[in-house]
Amino acid sequence: MSTFQAPKGTYDLTPPRSATFLAVREAIAAPLRDSGYGYIETPGFENVELFARGVGESTDIVTKEMYTLTTKGGDQLALRPEGTASVLRAALEANLHKAGNLPVKLWYSGSYYRYERPQAGRYRHFSQVGAEAIGTEDPVLDAELIILADQAYRSLGLRQFRILLNSLGDKECRPVYREALQTFLRDLDLDEETRRRIEINPLRVLDDKRADVQKQLTDAPKLRDYLCDACKAYHEEVRALLTAAGVVYEDDEKLVRGLDYYTRTTFEFVHDGLGSQSAVGGGGRYDGLSEMIGGPELPSVGWALGVDRTVLALEAEGIELDLPYATSVYAVPLGEEARRVLFGVVTGLRRAGIAADFAFGGRGLKGAMKSANRSGARYALVAGERDLAESVVQLKDMESGEQSAVPLTEVAAELAKRLG
Ligand code: AMP
Repeated sequence: MSTFQAPKGTYDLTPPRSATFLAVREAIAAPLRDSGYGYIETPGFENVELFARGVGESTDIVTKEMYTLTTKGGDQLALRPEGTASVLRAALEANLHKAGNLPVKLWYSGSYYRYERPQAGRYRHFSQVGAEAIGTEDPVLDAELIILADQAYRSLGLRQFRILLNSLGDKECRPVYREALQTFLRDLDLDEETRRRIEINPLRVLDDKRADVQKQLTDAPKLRDYLCDACKAYHEEVRALLTAAGVVYEDDEKLVRGLDYYTRTTFEFVHDGLGSQSAVGGGGRYDGLSEMIGGPELPSVGWALGVDRTVLALEAEGIELDLPYATSVYAVPLGEEARRVLFGVVTGLRRAGIAADFAFGGRGLKGAMKSANRSGARYALVAGERDLAESVVQLKDMESGEQSAVPLTEVAAELAKRLG
């Protein structure tokens, strides 16, 4: 082991587990790509102000968890703690919303950073795949996103997840509720920090995990009773669309989520095999965010699914993805001349689109064949001096053990045929 280790709260992705991560990212992205979402990539850091405004000055993410830095040039930057604010910023900057095609549907995949207390499933560097649909208020769009996330999880074989659904109201009804909630909360027996939270972000108090706090919240006013008619109708429509699509969800009126910008539809995907960090993904509607970061009114909805926790969920359910081996053909040269010739063959195979690897380092037959086995390759190519003299290589089927001589000039065509 070297004297260096990955920083606290981070871990490295190494083969073979890393292949599962790639497959998970792909499984989440595929339904999005098939549904009109275009890929977007934004920088790993932004001006700190974007998150302060876009995520909310009263959230834990901004007040406690952001990695901020001042550059040598004096810019105040933050490593991105989440994706939505950046994606909306980028869409506005590129005027995607003015191209006449609303909603602007985007998906992304990348690393996110939060200075949290590390534990199983909670890291300081983690990865998400996300989707945002910008500029349209339509319950069908909210339903579409939830259905696509459900589809992604099902395609991975996951079954022990649940979808929690709630509506947070809009700028008409939420403020009325917020005040009623504040009035209720101010009379409770709470610590200083929670008291401060009542004033800046009272809905978050509902999210408090402590049993003594939860006990006091039993009679708290319910957002459901305060939703205006428009919000109620919108929410009923989302629910009906999900039901029509066969997507099972649970109404959860305590679901408020940590970010300030959510309005109306809000949801979380939780997995029952993950212990305390059970949220594998979440999202919702954020109709006010664009204006909060200086853009026009652009009602939008989106989600982010955590790749790390999705992999943990697979492991919790004992699901092994059916990942094809990376290498189809493994070449084993015996001797100097064979090295040059077989390496030429391998290069040709690769150029023809056949995944091929090579026994490097001039190892003996036994060791090299072990590597061929480990690579998972279906075929091995073996050649020694005698084979070269006859201009052939030995083609070995690693499954059946059968071996036959194939003329050098025909190896590529023969392998292409056999591999289909
Ligand atoms: P959030 O924006 O907090 O709702 O995060 C969306 C998803 O990202 C969560 O459901 C998790 O799957 C994942 N996530 C958020 N924070 C972390 C973290 N510290 N470590 C690992 N995954 C995380």
